[in-house]
Amino acid sequence: MKSFDVVVVGAGPGGYVAAIRCAQLGLSTACVEQWLNPEGEPTVGGTCLNVGCIPSKALLDSSHHYHNLTHLLPSHGISVSSVDIDISTMQARREGVVKNLTRGIAGLFKKNKVEWLKGHGRLLAGKQVEVTPVDAGSAETVEAKNIIIATGSTPMAIKAAPVDGNRIVDSEGALIFDAVPKRLGIIGAGVIGLELGSVWNRLGSEVVVLEAMDTFLGAADQTIAKLAMRSLKKQGLDIRLGTSVTVANTTKKAVSVTYEDKNGEHEEKFDKLVVAVGRRPYADGLDAEAAGVAMENGRISVDAHCRTSVDGIYAIGDVVQGPMLAHKASEEGVAVAEIIAGQAGHVDHQHIPWVIYTHPEIAWAGQTEEQLKAAGTPYRAGSFPYMAIGRAQGAGETEGIVKMIGHADTDRLLGVHIFGAQASELVAEAVVAMEFHASTEDLARIVHAHPTLSEAMHEAALAVDKRALHI
Ligand code: FAD
Ligand code: AMP
Repeated sequence: MKSFDVVVVGAGPGGYVAAIRCAQLGLSTACVEQWLNPEGEPTVGGTCLNVGCIPSKALLDSSHHYHNLTHLLPSHGISVSSVDIDISTMQARREGVVKNLTRGIAGLFKKNKVEWLKGHGRLLAGKQVEVTPVDAGSAETVEAKNIIIATGSTPMAIKAAPVDGNRIVDSEGALIFDAVPKRLGIIGAGVIGLELGSVWNRLGSEVVVLEAMDTFLGAADQTIAKLAMRSLKKQGLDIRLGTSVTVANTTKKAVSVTYEDKNGEHEEKFDKLVVAVGRRPYADGLDAEAAGVAMENGRISVDAHCRTSVDGIYAIGDVVQGPMLAHKASEEGVAVAEIIAGQAGHVDHQHIPWVIYTHPEIAWAGQTEEQLKAAGTPYRAGSFPYMAIGRAQGAGETEGIVKMIGHADTDRLLGVHIFGAQASELVAEAVVAMEFHASTEDLARIVHAHPTLSEAMHEAALAVDKRALHI
C-alpha cells in the first residue's frame, strides 16, 4: 500500500494550496480529485477555477467591456457605429481562461512532486483513503499520517424550482448560456445571484431577482447595501425583496414562476431561471462519519485549528464553518500544512475580506455598523464619496463611498466598507491595517498616492475624526 505523510481529498483552492504547501515543507503528499472538465478529462482547481470565481469574473469582465461601449465611452468622445457581442467567442474565452489556470495548477503539482490521485476519495478507518479512479478502473487504497479534507461545497437546491439543466439552472448552468436570455429570473439576491444577474443584464437580459429576505445583503453594512441596491436597480436589475418562490413550471418555451410576497401571489414567465439560493458543504460519498469524523448539519466539525474529531485528520474550506470564500479556504490550507509540519499555522478569521464583483464593486473587512451596535461597542464612523476624488472623476467612476469605523475610545480600526470602483483592490489596505491593529488615525497619517482611488480610503479615515479635506 502506498503511504504518504499527507493525503489531501479535494483539489479546490483549499486542497490544492494545502497540498503545495505540504510539499514545500518536505512532506510526501498526494491529492485526490474527482473533477472532470467538459471534455471528460480529469482536472484540478475545484469549484473556484472550474465553475466559480474565475469563470464568473471572466464573464463579468466581458460584459463590463460590452456595457462600457455604450454607457461609458461616449462620455470620452468615443463612439462606435455598431456594437455586437458574439456569445460563443465570449464563452470560448472563459473556457480558455479556466483551462490555462487549471493546467497551471496541474503543473504546480508536478513541480512540487504532489501526486495527483485521479478519482473519488473515501475515508476508511485508520487514516486510509480508498481512491476509485474516474475512469472506472479498480480502486486503490493509500494510507497517510495525516489527512486533509477539502471537499468543498455544491449549489443548494430548493423543491419549488428543481434544476433541469435547461430552463432551470444553478450557478454552473448560468455560466454557460449560449445565448442571452430575453427574460432571466434569479432566485436569491446573494453574491452569486447578483454577479450572474449583472453579467446577463449588461448583455441585454431583462433580469428579475427574487429574494426571500426583506433585507438586501444582510451580511453587509447597510449603508453600503442600500447604495448598492439603488445602483443595481438603476442598472436594470429588478430586485424584489420579501418574495418567496412557491413553484416553477417549465414548458417547451418558458418557465413560469409563482411567488408570494406581502401583497399575495404573483406569476412571472422567464426564458431561463437561475437558482442561486446558496451553497451547502459537500461531503457526499466521503464516508467521513464512518471513519469517526464528527459532522454537524452536513458540515465537517472542526476546532479553531481545523482539527476534526480524529487525531491527524483536518478539514478546511467550504466543507467547514465560516464564509464560503476561496481565499479563506486557501489560507486554512496553508495553516494546516504548517501545523502538520510542526509550525504555528494560523488564520485570523476576524479579517477575511468579502467582495461582490458587481459594478461598482462591494467589498468589506471587519465589522459592520449594525454588528457594532448590536454588541454595544462604542464607535465613530466616517464616510467619503468617490465623487470628491479626482481620479474617480477622471475615470468616470464617481459612484460610491468608503465608510470607515473606528473604536470610539481607542480609535482601533474595526471595519471598512466600500461601494465603488476597484473596491476589491482597496479593501486589501483595510485588511493589512486591521491585521497590524492600526487606528483610523494611522491610516489618516499614511501617504496615499495622488491621484488614485485609494485617496478615498485616506479621506474616509480623516472623516472618522471629522477632518476630511476635500469635502
Ligand atoms: P471546492 O473549490 O469546492 O473544491 C472541492 C474539490 O473537492 C472539488 O474539486 C471536488 O471535485 C473535490 N471533491 C469533493 N469530494 C471529493 C471526493 N470524495 N474525492 C475526490 N475529490 C472530491 N469565492 C471567492 O472567494 N471569490 C469569488 O469571486 C467567488 N466567486 C464564486 C462564483 C461562483 C459562481 C461560485 C459557485 C463560487 C464562488 N466563490 C467565490 C466561492 C468559491 O468558489 C469557494 O469558496 C471555493 O471554491 C472553496 O474552495 P474549497 O477548496 O473549499 O472547495
Ligand atoms: P448566498 O448565501 O450569498 O449565496 O445568497 C443566497 C440568497 O438566496 C440569500 O440571500 C437567501 O436569502 C436567498 N434565498 C434562499 N432561499 C430562497 C428562496 N426559496 N427564495 C428566494 N430567495 C432565497
